[in-house]
Amino acid sequence: MKCPECGAAELGRDTRDHTYSYKGQTTTIAAVTADYCPACNESLTMLEESDRVIAAMRALAKQINSSLVDPV
Ligand SMILES: [Zn+2]
Repeated sequence: MKCPECGAAELGRDTRDHTYSYKGQTTTIAAVTADYCPACNESLTMLEESDRVIAAMRALAKQINSSLVDPV
C-alpha cells in the first residue's frame, strides 16, 4: 500500500516505540505495530494498537493535568 500522506513510497510493517509530548512532558509508548512510510515517517497504526496509543496519551494528559492543580 502506498503512503496516503505523501504517495511516494510503500508502507512497511514495523514495530517501534512512539514518543508523545503533552505540555512539555514526554512519554514513550513502547512497541507500537504500524505501517510506516520510509519517505515521510507517516504511520498508520493498527486499530487495536491505536486504542492502546490513545489510552496512553489520555493517561499522560490526565496525570499532567492533575499534577498542575495548585495545592491550596
Ligand atoms: Zn509518506
